[in-house]
Amino acid sequence: MSPPPDPTLRLRVDAQALADNWRALDALSGAASAGAAIKADCYGLGTDRCLPAIRDAGCEQFFVAHWSEVAAAARHVDPAQIAVLHGPMRDDEVAYAREAGAVPVINSLAQARRWSEGGGGTCHLMIDTGINRLGVAPGELTDPAIRALDIDILMSHLACADEDSAMNARQLSRFADCRSAVSHRRASLANSAGISLGEDFAFDLTRPGLSIYGGIPREELASEIRAVAGIEAAVIQMRSISAGESVGYNAAFTATRDMRIATVSLGYADGFLRARGPGTSLAHRGRALPLLGKVSMDMVVVDCVAAPDLREGDWLSVPFDLGEAARSSGLSQYELLTVLGSRLKT
Ligand SMILES: *Cc1c(COP(=O)(O)O)cnc(C)c1O
Repeated sequence: MSPPPDPTLRLRVDAQALADNWRALDALSGAASAGAAIKADCYGLGTDRCLPAIRDAGCEQFFVAHWSEVAAAARHVDPAQIAVLHGPMRDDEVAYAREAGAVPVINSLAQARRWSEGGGGTCHLMIDTGINRLGVAPGELTDPAIRALDIDILMSHLACADEDSAMNARQLSRFADCRSAVSHRRASLANSAGISLGEDFAFDLTRPGLSIYGGIPREELASEIRAVAGIEAAVIQMRSISAGESVGYNAAFTATRDMRIATVSLGYADGFLRARGPGTSLAHRGRALPLLGKVSMDMVVVDCVAAPDLREGDWLSVPFDLGEAARSSGLSQYELLTVLGSRLKT
């Protein structure tokens, strides 16, 4: 079979910006080293595209959420450098961890026992200091099941690092107290936003994700972090409509004058959700082409009055300033990245 024809939709990932962002976060981590959260296919941007750049920038510790994410990461880095945040829920996951050489993050006494009974070995330990999702309680650290572990990274996760909340100091002090209760080689608390909270939060290892990929969860990071992702979509049809005709589902836009419009190969299946539609423009050589009507699964329609020379096959750029897109759509910067669809990555 010959390869499929060129796509009409593309994601550009700026590997230099990825590397620069990781280095900036590593520098901001002070004496600590930065790792990298690479879960959810590197926050939707693609593990094969992103991970080599992050690794070559100097990163040596990587975090995925699921066991199913290990294989894609292990194509690029030593499996011993991959931590699996969800930990081993079942015995087959323990067996898989040992075979693949990836390192589980233990999140409960049950996971600790399961890991030790399956043969054990180096693991990481998540302590819950207040987010109440995963992790052992500080009071459980003296349990024999925890004492039996060989812990590399002792970690906890901040609930409110993107806010100036009293919760941050509370979690910091709980985490600091836990450090003396259990032996470990490295301690880690801060995510991207947590890195901006100051060196007290950095410990030995920070765990940025969002900001490596261009997200800015706190103003302090705005001058350090550059955009990484860009999306371009092709015009697949030019049309002319008359005053009174409508466009798209539910006839949400009705023309008040005769106009040229373009149908573009981008839809909500690609992660351009309906929440991003209203008030948004695509661009052609700097000219803004406002969206008309609703976002369809595979298409959007734009007003081409500003670009009379536009033709089928021309490429339009899709606005992807994460901060601006988050403000205007009500989605988080995390969601805007992780919803990007697979057709962008062909
Ligand atoms: C996702 C995740 C991170 C990265 O957080 P960002 O806010 O994306 O920097 C760090 N630690 C844990 C436990 C996570 O789940």
